[in-house]
Amino acid sequence: MTSLRSWAAACILGMAASLAFPGESALSRFEFSQPHMGTRFQIIVYARNAATASRASDAAFERIARLDDTMNDYNPRSELMSLCQRAGGPPVPVSEDLFQVLARSQALAERTDGAFDITVGPVVRLWRRARRQHEMPAADELAHARELVGHEKLRLDPGARTAQLLKKGMLLDLGGIAKGYAADQALAILKKHGITSALVVAGGEVAVSAPPPGRKGWRIGIAPLESPEKPPTRLLLLHDAAVSTSGDSEQYVELGGKRYSHIVDPRTGIGVMGRSSVTVVASDATTSDGMATAVSVLGPQQGLELVRSTPGTAALIIRATDQGPRAFEVNLSPYAVSAKD
Ligand code: ADP
Ligand code: MG
Repeated sequence: MTSLRSWAAACILGMAASLAFPGESALSRFEFSQPHMGTRFQIIVYARNAATASRASDAAFERIARLDDTMNDYNPRSELMSLCQRAGGPPVPVSEDLFQVLARSQALAERTDGAFDITVGPVVRLWRRARRQHEMPAADELAHARELVGHEKLRLDPGARTAQLLKKGMLLDLGGIAKGYAADQALAILKKHGITSALVVAGGEVAVSAPPPGRKGWRIGIAPLESPEKPPTRLLLLHDAAVSTSGDSEQYVELGGKRYSHIVDPRTGIGVMGRSSVTVVASDATTSDGMATAVSVLGPQQGLELVRSTPGTAALIIRATDQGPRAFEVNLSPYAVSAKD
């Protein structure tokens, strides 16, 4: 998945979490990291001892690796790709995980009138090539690719747990949602191992459970738009929630003086223009990941409308303008903290 690159790691920085006060809790902080899905996954847990922490995080990473095998669109042998190879044919039985992600994606596609759409694969491939070759996708190729895009061409049957791609040549791309799902699943595995206070970072997606001992929440920084390596400009305090940042600080192409993002508008086939970063808070990372991508396509007006009409979500959009960065936000104040807090 092209989107699952390490650049996103820069979007969300630093999670300051200290050890508990002496005597208050017997839990200590442990940190682990592994590469998966083309990005770096980081797990922080509070556990009684190192053995418990290692066992739990090993199981969580194992779950993430299996999800990568299932949903990778670079690997022709992944379950996702074998489904795509059968496009134009009859319904195909799929695993519980793949069905879940497809169903969540379709629900979001319907809510956003196709601004978020995992059938965008053929168009995304053309823009990947455009980035490599520094050349605008050819009009005829783009027109052909667009004929294969449209969430109504993906049929799901929850009873039979099957998926059907109606047109030969269709290609699904889960790059806008799979990392979020993997972060949620990793958190669930940690819970099964008795870890109630944990944080999972997957590139630009973060999922957290209960706060670190003695704290009100996990402190998560949102990097500045212009220079993601600099200290965060905004801080959020979260527990039992998720936050995702979608941006184009690395994956974009400049052609004819215009900047096109790796996020494309499936309805036009064109990469989202301009420079922006979108941060979405939600109850789980599957939701925040998908919505951050959707809001990037929809822009501030419609994007924030989507957030307003989705219970339990909040968002911050930062856009580059000729007058400098401009921020738009919805429902963010309950989570916002200052560096002094
Ligand atoms: P990142 O993975 O870089 O954090 P996102 O979560 O926003 O970024 O996902 C972007 C990826 O999603 C793209 O690289 C592409 O694989 C896929 N994608 C691009 N445009 C769309 C879209 N409109 N709807 C769904 N997926 C998209
Ligand atoms: Mg996303």
